Amino acid sequence: MFTSGATESNNLALEGATETRRSRGDHVVTVQTEHHSVLDVCKRLETHGWRVTRLPVGAEGLVDLGQLREAVTSRTVLVSVMAANNEIGVLHQMADIATIAHEHGALLHSDIVQAAGKVAVDVQSDDIDLASFTAHKLYGPKGVGALFVRRRQPRIALIPLFHGGGQERGLRPGTLNVPGIVGFGAACAIAARELREEASRLTRLRDRLLASLQDRVDGLVVNGSLAHRLPGNLNVSFAHVDGEALLVSLTDVAVSSGAACTAAEPSHVLKALGRSTDVALASLRFGLGRWTTEAEVDAAATHVAAAVTRLRAMAPV
Ligand SMILES: *Cc1c(COP(=O)(O)O)cnc(C)c1O
Repeated sequence: MFTSGATESNNLALEGATETRRSRGDHVVTVQTEHHSVLDVCKRLETHGWRVTRLPVGAEGLVDLGQLREAVTSRTVLVSVMAANNEIGVLHQMADIATIAHEHGALLHSDIVQAAGKVAVDVQSDDIDLASFTAHKLYGPKGVGALFVRRRQPRIALIPLFHGGGQERGLRPGTLNVPGIVGFGAACAIAARELREEASRLTRLRDRLLASLQDRVDGLVVNGSLAHRLPGNLNVSFAHVDGEALLVSLTDVAVSSGAACTAAEPSHVLKALGRSTDVALASLRFGLGRWTTEAEVDAAATHVAAAVTRLRAMAPV
């Protein structure tokens, strides 16, 4: 079903799957490091009588499957776990998470925005019931996304967020954004074609970036698992640096310290990993993409290392 983006898809999935299953339970399970378009819907669900468990993550940024198994009960109607985290890039074990959710009759929703087009995602083999994605995170146009809704085994009923015409079987009425959808389709075709080669190129560049930062800067900590991670993501914390001064001084490198939507606050994801506010703010997220070159990676490492060294000398924290 086409939507305006993953924010809408996440809202539709969580609101819809809970509303239609009210008679079966009153509980939703999610994770502390989810995107705000999941967490904020969960907050709203709580004001409407739902209980929400927000699982913590371990030092690697991953959900503990034992803790998940303990959290899910016969009162749980929905489990929502993102496939890949947008800040630290860690990849959750979706097939195992699906097994646990389904053991208790709960549905599994996954925000697969960051994984789609970057690593192989298969809603069938991973047994995901509802999956949200958005075109612009895989080089498509902004303002168009989709929600995968399983139609068979089980057939999932949702309720619409808006009401009107019969488009998308009445679940998402309104005239479809045809140019956006065509662009989304074209972007998916290109991503599918290039995925394998691009993933290995980006992994090599990402590892090169990390190695060259480690060569130049002491006290660098990688946030989240390196082994279970998107190829194009690197997120590192620098001890003893004023984070705001660091970001401001990096005029030649496009980096952020958290999600693009909530800049300037310490990241809830890094806090969930156990980082202090100061360290969370002194963290940089590097996103490597289709047009990132080796020369750019080397230049980024040089600029960042120089900035960290200069700030540490000027104003030791
Ligand atoms: C960007 C993003 C979203 C929101 O997508 P929109 O297109 O802005 O609605 C949701 N989840 C994740 C993980 C994202 O990275």
